[in-house]
Amino acid sequence: KITAGVLALQGAFYEHLQLLRKAADILNSSSQQQTQWKFIEVRTKAQLDACDALILPGGESTTISLVAASSGLLEPLRDFVKLHRKPTWGTCAGLILLAESANRTKKGGQELIGGIDVRVNRNHFGRQTESFQAPIDLPFLQDSTIPETLPFNGVFIRAPVVERILPHQQGIQIEENQREETIVAPSRSAVDTAAQKILEDQVEVLAKLPGRAARLVANSGVNIDAEKEAEDIIAVKQGNVFGTSFHPELTDDPRIHLWWLRQVRDAVQSRNIDR
Ligand code: GLN
Repeated sequence: KITAGVLALQGAFYEHLQLLRKAADILNSSSQQQTQWKFIEVRTKAQLDACDALILPGGESTTISLVAASSGLLEPLRDFVKLHRKPTWGTCAGLILLAESANRTKKGGQELIGGIDVRVNRNHFGRQTESFQAPIDLPFLQDSTIPETLPFNGVFIRAPVVERILPHQQGIQIEENQREETIVAPSRSAVDTAAQKILEDQVEVLAKLPGRAARLVANSGVNIDAEKEAEDIIAVKQGNVFGTSFHPELTDDPRIHLWWLRQVRDAVQSRNIDR
């Protein structure tokens, strides 16, 4: 039995649970191998401890981080992701929390969990009115059970993008002139060293905003430079940690959830073999 949790402090956690159930049904009906899945809402450390894998939903990353801190969940979350390297997926605000570095916005900054060696730019496309939907290509879905016939509907709500990949290192040095505008996940040498021993994973870029989508967005009146935005990274993976800057949970398309459940199943199985 595999337990996957969704952090349920704020944001679109309910929608993730719905799609996880849908994806698990498809997975079990399409493969010989039957997995018993349990999907739970996570609000306490005990619930987190019961999880083999976790989703951090979209919402408001500062709020999620503050509530996590006041519920005593921040350090356990860091251990979950960085020490135990259990499969974790962050969407939008969730991706921000999983980044090692983010820009500080006007309202301040939150504490990051970290786990993916990237810097994200929060609210990259602008404010609420600059939210948009656009068809996106997700090449990593190609071997999925549901044939990739249609592009995925990318829902971007005050979305972040991955601005750059950071060198894999223990703790990020912030340059003096960047201190004001940068938040980084705290370096905890013991944890980082242990995590590094487990895996020395590189950041993989899984998807970029396609030029087609960028042009559509530009044509819709949102003020972006289509050529430049076409380079924006919208999905990354480093070992067991995965992040998307858009919200698959706000569609009824279970393809990414299905792909992720497969990743989780494989990770749990290889963990059990290693024991
Ligand atoms: N802009 C939000 C933040 O910084 C994220 C938006 C979202 O998750 N839809 O947390």
